[in-house]
Amino acid sequence: MPRYEAVIGLEVHVQLAVASKLFCSCSTTFGCPPNTNVCEVCLGMPGALPTVNGGAVRCAALVGLATNCAVNLRSVFARKNYFYPDLPAGYQISQYELPICERGFLRIQAEGGGKTVGITRIHLENDAGKNIHVQHEKVSHVDLNRAGTPLIEIVSEPDLRSSAEAAAYLKALYAIVTYLEVCDGNMEEGSFRCDANVSLRRVGSAELGTRAELKNLNSFRNVQRAIEYEIVRQRDILDDGGVVKQETRLYDAAANVTQAMRDKEEAHDYRYFPDPDLLPIEIAEGELAAWRAGLPELPGERLARFKAMTGLPEADIEVLTQNVRLADFFEKAATLSGARQSAGYIIGPLLRECRARNLPVDPAFWAMKPEALANLVNIVEKGLISAKIANDIFAELFSSGCMPEAYIAERGLGQISDAGVLEEAVDAVIAANPAEAEAFRNGKTKLLSFFVGQVMRATRGKANPALVNELLDGKLR
Ligand code: ADP
Ligand code: MG
Ligand code: ZN
Repeated sequence: MPRYEAVIGLEVHVQLAVASKLFCSCSTTFGCPPNTNVCEVCLGMPGALPTVNGGAVRCAALVGLATNCAVNLRSVFARKNYFYPDLPAGYQISQYELPICERGFLRIQAEGGGKTVGITRIHLENDAGKNIHVQHEKVSHVDLNRAGTPLIEIVSEPDLRSSAEAAAYLKALYAIVTYLEVCDGNMEEGSFRCDANVSLRRVGSAELGTRAELKNLNSFRNVQRAIEYEIVRQRDILDDGGVVKQETRLYDAAANVTQAMRDKEEAHDYRYFPDPDLLPIEIAEGELAAWRAGLPELPGERLARFKAMTGLPEADIEVLTQNVRLADFFEKAATLSGARQSAGYIIGPLLRECRARNLPVDPAFWAMKPEALANLVNIVEKGLISAKIANDIFAELFSSGCMPEAYIAERGLGQISDAGVLEEAVDAVIAANPAEAEAFRNGKTKLLSFFVGQVMRATRGKANPALVNELLDGKLR
């Protein structure tokens, strides 16, 4: 019996895919030369006034709608005061008492079946810049291109009970923001990042334990590993009769440990107050209704539809719907050929090739197009090539992007369905194995598969197996 139960709440920062910053018209393009996308507003010059990016407001509301939140028609920006060199104004503009969205939930698949995870709030805020410490240099640098970039922070209730649940929740959220196209989903560039709050409590206790907040979790895998490490660390402390300190800890992926970074701030440390330079965000009821009506198909809906289309188990469909571009790829191939067969090729050989080549699970990075996959399904179905040859040539089709039909024609890989040609091969095999032929005629009909195998070998796998069976059966009797 486990003595402790893990309690986890996630704070997810999503960088919004809009062209300009939250309070000025500077570009949000990633990777520009340092300090080129800046102006008096995002540099925090005294007297420069912010104006809200309406596109970012819409993105935040869409995420709220897609996560079952109440979207507030009126919400308020607040200053969160802290002092780091990457925050030129000396405060971050965020939302505190009245965020844009509240009280939502997401459904996830957990060990014991489905589970609802509460979403406390979603608020808009601007990102900070980036401090750069170059080794052996006596100075530090700061790049403020990112300062002012629009973010939403999605705060969950402490409803998660394991690292696996945390990962499932995070993946569900990732799918939603990428399906909505409000985020480019690039985790390496920090477009989708997460802090995990972790505490333990005795099983059966209703009170929350003291939490540590884990930072620097830049992949699903790291989130899971950091939480697992942290659970063990806290359990050891409690078992030794110690107390867990409320603090912020940094995850070191290379060493797979979390390390104390600083004491955790309390809300009052930030001296929040409404930003006097900004009016409240007002959303007209009609506008919100239009956004709701214009929501695209969301991951859950797509999952249900693909399930009905293919009859495949949910775990397989989850693979297909993990991101919107893969789901689109599958759907295109499925409409041009068979749904179930397309799904089979994607989940099996295609994603295997993708992993082997270290490519992202994103068709934008693949030479193979859905038309080519559909063509492969169709020529196997029509008997132009065998399933075995399809598998043998898959790696090359994937890396070259060739149309399978043209590829097999060029290489003479097409299945032999010409009865005349096959008859010759069948006759030769029977003539070469008189003892087996005799045994077959005396009732050892199991030998049919032996003959089929011989004919396949003689034709290097290209013989149409159904036709070979038929011919052999006729000739051996
Ligand atoms: P902040 O971290 O900014 O101070 P909150 O106090 O609102 O903000 O908490 C942030 C996150 O921490 C939320 O996701 C919440 O669910 C989670 N959380 C709060 N208390 C605990 C706890 N005792 N154990 C685990 N998670 C917690
Ligand atoms: Mg926090
Ligand atoms: Zn600017």
